[in-house]
Amino acid sequence: NDSSTSLIMIFGATGDLAKRKLYPSLYHLYKKGKLADHFAVIGTARRPWSHEEFRENIKDSIHSFVGADEQIDDFSSHFYYQPHDVTDSDSYIQLKTLAEELDTKYSLQGNRIFYLAMAPEFFGTIADHLKADGLTDTTGFKRLVIEKPFGHDLESAEQLNAQIRQSFPEEEIYRIDHYLGKAMVQNIEVIRFANAFFEPLWNNRYISNIQITSSEKLGVEERARYYETSGALRDMVQNHMLQMLALLAMEPPIRLTTDEIRSEKVKVFRALRPIEGNEVNEYFVRGQYGPGTIDKNEVVGYRDEMNVDPDSQTETFVAGKLMIDNFRWAGVPFYIRTGKRMTTKSTKIVIQFKDIPMNLYNNNEQLQPNLLVIHIQPDEGITLHLNAKKSGQNMQTNPVKLNFSNEGSNGINTPEAYEKLLYDCLHGDATNFTHWDEVALSWKFVDKISEVWEQTNSEIPKYASGTMGPEEAEKLIENDGFFWWNLN
Ligand code: NAD
Repeated sequence: NDSSTSLIMIFGATGDLAKRKLYPSLYHLYKKGKLADHFAVIGTARRPWSHEEFRENIKDSIHSFVGADEQIDDFSSHFYYQPHDVTDSDSYIQLKTLAEELDTKYSLQGNRIFYLAMAPEFFGTIADHLKADGLTDTTGFKRLVIEKPFGHDLESAEQLNAQIRQSFPEEEIYRIDHYLGKAMVQNIEVIRFANAFFEPLWNNRYISNIQITSSEKLGVEERARYYETSGALRDMVQNHMLQMLALLAMEPPIRLTTDEIRSEKVKVFRALRPIEGNEVNEYFVRGQYGPGTIDKNEVVGYRDEMNVDPDSQTETFVAGKLMIDNFRWAGVPFYIRTGKRMTTKSTKIVIQFKDIPMNLYNNNEQLQPNLLVIHIQPDEGITLHLNAKKSGQNMQTNPVKLNFSNEGSNGINTPEAYEKLLYDCLHGDATNFTHWDEVALSWKFVDKISEVWEQTNSEIPKYASGTMGPEEAEKLIENDGFFWWNLN
């Protein structure tokens, strides 16, 4: 019986994240028996809702985002609501009373998860109050789950961390990077460490370069107020892109424990070559989407979006070349690319192997390099690009693809990232959450780049919506004799 016992307190319970991701994920866990009798959820936010109104909203969320209502009354009966003002101690004292009542009612053994699904400026304040007002005085486990962004740069992240650590030790802090909950991101490790033929080739002798692309078709939508102060570097590179890079580049851990895996990832961040000053323009490219066409619809440029400064210099695209200065990776560029309003919605990793020493096959064409492609989203799977013999008399080669698709083999959609992460948190497994050392080192790397961009007076390069970014991104990689693989 692996059903969990805990109170889950959600701060920001009326918000978008709670509605789209957290409630559907909890419902899935419930349906699978991972949450049974001994769980309760307290939702808090500003609105003066009753328990009943909250439960109606839970049902709506499940109805719209899961498309099911089975056992919905039973499920939603575990949900309670408390109007809340994050800065007011009285609010927390009321919460504590309700928490204690539910603890008894559902035999929760004093276990508490505090999920902060709110604007980041409140993270520190809430953590302070949880301790000061006694919500952490409990006999069971206490876990604090924090959404992104964790800080705006190294300095603010350090401040936030210092504040949170006053109330929660590092082991109790679960910093969300929802990419780490994605099935194929978790699969990177398995592909590498459970197969005899990848790991021996996983180094600078056999790999020529690695490309990580995460492209979106959407524009900034309603997030401009936040995005204008963030941009793609902070929103995507500091966390998701660097996390994928760390999983690809890390040494095999001696054991699959949280501490061992995290410590190998931290070593990757420590080996990351700092890019600063004049080098920034050589290694990194930024861009901003202009008007263009997405799925045959005309769309406006970033500067014409709602709540965006008409002279905005915010980047909606980043491409970069990263070098990892250790024995395994010396000389192998890791190229990353991410942006909004690009041709496709997709996250993919392409591992390009080096050419074989000589080509015996006179095709009049070059042999295609071997590629291992890891499809993260929306499709999940791996593809191997090989050369095989063309049918017929002569010895001509033909590129072939070996394809494994996650969906096909499981027959059902793999669980949503948030479901996996909530499950892990309920079980005290912090492996797929980011440790403070990873956060600090990745901010340190990214800050050097934003510093240079912020001091640059030249106009930010533009790209038409519906393309794969500005021309400069092509040049970045062509200068090394490579090109971006735009595979589907
Ligand atoms: P949201 O604006 O939709 O919701 C914010 C919630 O906070 C609401 O429930 C609101 O009532 C509550 N709130 C705000 N001020 C309050 C106050 N003073 N006192 C009490 N409650 C207050 O935001 P969201 O999109 O759900 O995002 C929440 C967090 O999750 C953010 O850190 C965001 O960066 C992160 N996040 C969101 C998504 C997403 O898909 N929406 C994805 C990744 C990360």
